[in-house]
Amino acid sequence: MTTRTAVHWFRKGLRLHDNPALLEAIKHAEENKCFFRAIFIIDPNIIKFMKVGSNRWRFLAQSLVQLNENLIAINSRLYVVRGSPYTVFPDLFKLWNVSVLTFEVDTEPYSVTRDERVEKLAEKAGVKVIQKVSHTLYNVHTVVRMNGGSPPLTYQKFLSVIQLLSNPRQPLKAPDKLNDYTKPHIDSNELASKFCYDCPTIEDFGVEVTELGPCLFPGGETEALQRLDATLVRKQWICKFEKPNTSPNSLEPSTTVLSPYLKFGCLSPNLFYYKLKGIIDNNVHTKPPVSLIGQLLWREFYYVVAAMTPNFNKMEGNSICCQIPWVNNLTYLSAWKEGRTGYPFIDAIMRQLKQEGWIHHLARHAVACFLTRGDLWVSWELGQEVFEEYLLDADWALNAGNWLWLSASAFFHQFFRVYSPVAFGKKTDKNGLYIKKYVPELVRFPPEYIYEPWKAPVSFQKSVNCIIGKDYPNRIVVHEDVYKENIAKMSLAYKNKRAVHEVSLKRPSTSELHAKNKKAK
Ligand code: FAD
Repeated sequence: MTTRTAVHWFRKGLRLHDNPALLEAIKHAEENKCFFRAIFIIDPNIIKFMKVGSNRWRFLAQSLVQLNENLIAINSRLYVVRGSPYTVFPDLFKLWNVSVLTFEVDTEPYSVTRDERVEKLAEKAGVKVIQKVSHTLYNVHTVVRMNGGSPPLTYQKFLSVIQLLSNPRQPLKAPDKLNDYTKPHIDSNELASKFCYDCPTIEDFGVEVTELGPCLFPGGETEALQRLDATLVRKQWICKFEKPNTSPNSLEPSTTVLSPYLKFGCLSPNLFYYKLKGIIDNNVHTKPPVSLIGQLLWREFYYVVAAMTPNFNKMEGNSICCQIPWVNNLTYLSAWKEGRTGYPFIDAIMRQLKQEGWIHHLARHAVACFLTRGDLWVSWELGQEVFEEYLLDADWALNAGNWLWLSASAFFHQFFRVYSPVAFGKKTDKNGLYIKKYVPELVRFPPEYIYEPWKAPVSFQKSVNCIIGKDYPNRIVVHEDVYKENIAKMSLAYKNKRAVHEVSLKRPSTSELHAKNKKAK
């Protein structure tokens, strides 16, 4: 009889530290003197359909290489398997004589469906499945239960619910070096020849090296922990952190840029949380929603609502989304996506996003408001798709949740508060240095014109070799006019929403209808 194998399946959660499902598989292997294998599955068919830009593929490829290095350091390795999980697993269960399969809970709808199917395959093959929560601080189902069966729909309500729960789990240490007997022999039978276990290169993801931007935030657990350490030494900064006072357009990031590492699970949210807590406890410090821990709780809040709201990332069938009659002008959309709106602040942000894959939260606010209710009146669903492609940290729940917020479709309802594409950026970068970095056409424009180049006299434009409308676009809409029209349209959509809501309240309940029917009979 071949030795049995305990398998840990990495998906998100690309780390050794604080990984309860990984530890569970290793424990099983050591207790039962069986082999341990760590796998990652790449489904070539899905790659073709996913909206993932080159920079994010690179981040994933780097994260897998680091994961493999870290596993080798503990006397193991990563087996990267190509194929659909539904065909790969039955083969692996047989080939490796698998007894246990562990993985991290993933609440994204696609993953929930996939994991249910994999569980069924495991059951058929007599493989025990163990799942552990470690992508979020709280189990989303526990939060919902504590809130009486539905997700809290405001951040404040969410905070009051988690007060009733026990503290988040303390982070766990990475596994120590594994015993030699957990190391499997080289696969040598016929099935094994189907698989190549090497880490993928970026070319395997169909990425052309020429498409890549500068690599400012390399992927991987080691990188994540170094970035975390670099953040944690700034104790005063952490204690005084207030998100609204950070800058959307500083030349170096004014927040942690830990989001890509949290998204891929190279960093544990529990580790981040308790490290922050260790610093702020016994010190005067800021509080949620603006503090750094407050930011992590925003992440939790959106995860809970997203997991429990069908069609959370869509307008249709999304019970919390206000139905606003957007007009999807594709010319506007591509101008926005490519940083050609003629508003230098907006264009600089969108170009930074495409080149580097990360932009500041308030920069996200500015461009999301501009695309939707502020200026272009294009649906948030299309903006969400662009972010999904370009962001290193693109996250199903957080992307949708924040787009719902910014377009005032859910969570936030003060639609009359619109960001100015001119004044907002000026507050933190009077001279427009950020614009000059990402919109080099305007590098010779002085502070009085850098945010509104259309106002520069033609003679000046000629003198700096940048004619507005030729070398840099004219603005596609006049903000001062469109934002007022859009507020009126939002107001109407909200009135209609109220009317629909009131009609549904007036509609008799099922028991009233039954009573009426009985009487009629
Ligand atoms: P920090 O300020 O250092 O915060 C620490 C961590 O807290 C972040 O890494 C992140 O995990 C979490 N966090 C911070 N702000 C938020 C927030 N508003 N909502 C949820 N979690 C938050 N964030 C993503 O991770 N993925 C996305 O796809 C995403 N899409 C967004 C789309 C729009 C339209 C907007 C307005 C925001 C979006 N955000 C998204 C939220 C936020 O902008 C980023 O999490 C943040 O800017 C990441 O930078 P940071 O790591 O320096 O954040």
